[in-house]
Amino acid sequence: MIYREYGKTGKKISAVGFGGMRFERPDDFDRSAEMLVHALNKGINYFDTATFYFKGKSEEIFGHARSELVRTGKNFYYSTKSMAKDRESVRIDVEHSLKRMKVDSIDFLHVWCVLTPEDFAARKAAGVIDEFRKVKEEGLAKHISISTHMSGNEIRDLFEHEEFEGVTLGYCATNFPFREAGLKAAIEKNMGAVIMNPLGGGTIVNNPEAFSFIRMNEEQSMVDAALHFLLSNKGITSALVGFSNKQQIDEAVAAVESFKPYTAAESERLKQSIQDDFQSMCTTCGYCNVCPVNIPVWAFMESFNHVLLDGSFKVAERLKWHWALKINELDRCTGCRQCEEVCTQHLPILQRFELIRQNARGK
Ligand code: SF4
Ligand code: SF4
Repeated sequence: MIYREYGKTGKKISAVGFGGMRFERPDDFDRSAEMLVHALNKGINYFDTATFYFKGKSEEIFGHARSELVRTGKNFYYSTKSMAKDRESVRIDVEHSLKRMKVDSIDFLHVWCVLTPEDFAARKAAGVIDEFRKVKEEGLAKHISISTHMSGNEIRDLFEHEEFEGVTLGYCATNFPFREAGLKAAIEKNMGAVIMNPLGGGTIVNNPEAFSFIRMNEEQSMVDAALHFLLSNKGITSALVGFSNKQQIDEAVAAVESFKPYTAAESERLKQSIQDDFQSMCTTCGYCNVCPVNIPVWAFMESFNHVLLDGSFKVAERLKWHWALKINELDRCTGCRQCEEVCTQHLPILQRFELIRQNARGK
């Protein structure tokens, strides 16, 4: 395993981190906790969760695993996040996280899911950021970081006047130009830089033909290639992979073990190969599950990914065979744009709905 310094904190964390949002059976605490122990034994020492993953169960799994992890005698770190919008809620979230994860202090506590500069400003005005710092002063958290889905330029601007010890942001071979400036700013400030969604929500791994250009040689699997691309940037501290089972942990660890940094020419060739459309793909993160009329926006956007990938307009077939959905679900859309406001990829969702409708009408 490769370990990298998390900014100025003095902590060294594994180049692949454990994302606690994709447990296969979150109700089975013993089985899920075993995955954390397996990961630590394989060298992964950064475990990331959040207050709402599986409605708090992910943090409880971390709590369930803790005594076994301690028994290994190895160093490990717990990271969690709060999306609280006021001081009191920060306090409530932190108290719940400490209790659920069975720790006295959270190693890395994140201001979670900052979507826009206005969102950050509103939280700051409500005293949320001060409360995070107070939590640290009281010893309830060791480090305060931020997790954000803003664009690269917005992140860069934020870091010009706000101090955090690290940042967690979505960045992968399909969307990196969108966040490049933010990552660069974090690295220049010597912050920890943790990457979420390094496999593009499965898009890269599940579409090997479309993304074959990220492989530098025949031996690389798609997981290897996606992770090697990230690790070639020395400023990236860790790539968080949401694990569902032990096999995925083994694959990610093997990818780190076979890592050889890309040469400058290889990195450049890869960057040149990125087509504009790849920057605007749905990562199936699910943050758009806010629709007041319950339209499963993510399923429509995931289906639209395939239009971008291979040009074939098979949205209706994909909706039908994968999720038993019909295009006329969109008739219920009121155009309120709540989904667009929270989309982590800032996708033009309504515009894509219209293209889907137009294409269906043309058939
Ligand atoms: S714009 Fe349509 S799909 Fe999006 S949240 Fe509003 S009603 Fe739902
Ligand atoms: S549409 Fe946006 S918010 Fe919804 S799942 Fe896709 S990337 Fe995430």
